[in-house]
Amino acid sequence: MATNNKSPHHSARCSFCQRPEYEVNMLIHGEHAAICDECSIRAMDYVKELQHSKSVARLSQATVLKPQEIKAFLDQYVIGQDEAKKFLSVAVYNHYKRIQLPKEKKIDIEKSNILLVGETGTGKTLLASTIARILHVPFAIVDATVLTEAGYVGEDVESILSRLLQAADGNVPLAEKGIVFIDELDKISRKSDNPSITRDVSGEGVQQAMLKLLEGSVVNVPPQGGRKHPEQKMIPVDTKNILFICGGAFEGIERIIAQRLNTNMIGYGSVQKHAHIDRNNLLQYIGPADMRKYGLIPEIIGRLPIITYLEPLDRKALRAILTEPKNAIIKQYIYLFSLDGIELTFDNDVLEYIVDKAIEYKLGARGLRSICEIIIIDAMYDLPSDKKTSFRVTKEYAEMKLQSTEKLKAS
Ligand code: ADP
Repeated sequence: MATNNKSPHHSARCSFCQRPEYEVNMLIHGEHAAICDECSIRAMDYVKELQHSKSVARLSQATVLKPQEIKAFLDQYVIGQDEAKKFLSVAVYNHYKRIQLPKEKKIDIEKSNILLVGETGTGKTLLASTIARILHVPFAIVDATVLTEAGYVGEDVESILSRLLQAADGNVPLAEKGIVFIDELDKISRKSDNPSITRDVSGEGVQQAMLKLLEGSVVNVPPQGGRKHPEQKMIPVDTKNILFICGGAFEGIERIIAQRLNTNMIGYGSVQKHAHIDRNNLLQYIGPADMRKYGLIPEIIGRLPIITYLEPLDRKALRAILTEPKNAIIKQYIYLFSLDGIELTFDNDVLEYIVDKAIEYKLGARGLRSICEIIIIDAMYDLPSDKKTSFRVTKEYAEMKLQSTEKLKAS
């Protein structure tokens, strides 16, 4: 292929539009044909369109894992959280069934958006991103904290769909069958149960705007995300078949649940009367009434018919997270070292020690990685230049490394 300079005397033409070379900006020559810049752009658009409709068609024939199979896959990466895994697996399975229904369906299956409630660092994002690995539909993770009512500093709610559109490579029909995980939904709750008189830019207004997405309507989406501006070309996206998975910590909601259950978390006597209630894990009783009291508007709650919870991670779970998931932190270090021909081993009491420290500093699962990094950083720095072929991390070594840092103590 070569491009020639424009020349009125040259007889080369675009094989598609037949315009001579001197009438076009650029002519790309093949062996027996040529194409001009405009035709090649048109051809590219055509190819993209074909590719898009092919991937939508492929989706309608994709074999879908059964709920139990989806859960088994999640089990490889996420420790515990059986309840949330079960709900998610069913929601995703039904989502596929819905989007694969023939047009002449007998009954319209309504979508079941889902709300995951659990302390921060218990695996909500991990669950969502793990499930995305087995999906054939576009998937986007967005954070509700950046959203504000239109006209205020922050992002418009529609930008949620820009992310999905980007994940679908601009394929609108495919994006319209996608899944969105909206994290930190609690951050857009109204600050009190009473509708406020003053404006609440990040609360109720955002919820009202989000309602449009959740309940299914055609929304004009700015392709680049962020804030809408007048000159930007908007893309209409129908959200009817988009599945929304929301997550949030809803800090302090236990108190609301306890009130509703008529238990008093402090009063011992009243709890005894409700012996069947596990007051160490009140989240498991979470229901729509609690969400409302927390500050979500009833219409939003109505659009999130499935509410499920994540368990706080106990010692056993933290210990399992270190070594059991398919891409567990410790497995990652061992693999990294093996690439340098070094056999890395951890004594069992080191692993227990890491868990102890994560609990002591109240760092949860997220802290496990930071603690490991502090312990292993010097070895990672020095060993690739040494001739050593093995390295054993003992408890003494780990203690020495952690004690020499102030990083964790500060938190
Ligand atoms: P959340 O979204 O609930 O705040 P994340 O899913 O972001 O929490 O969890 C933070 C990190 O902690 C994850 O990347 C993962 O390494 C680890 N983690 C948390 N919960 C689990 C779990 N149940 N199983 C395995 N790893 C977990």
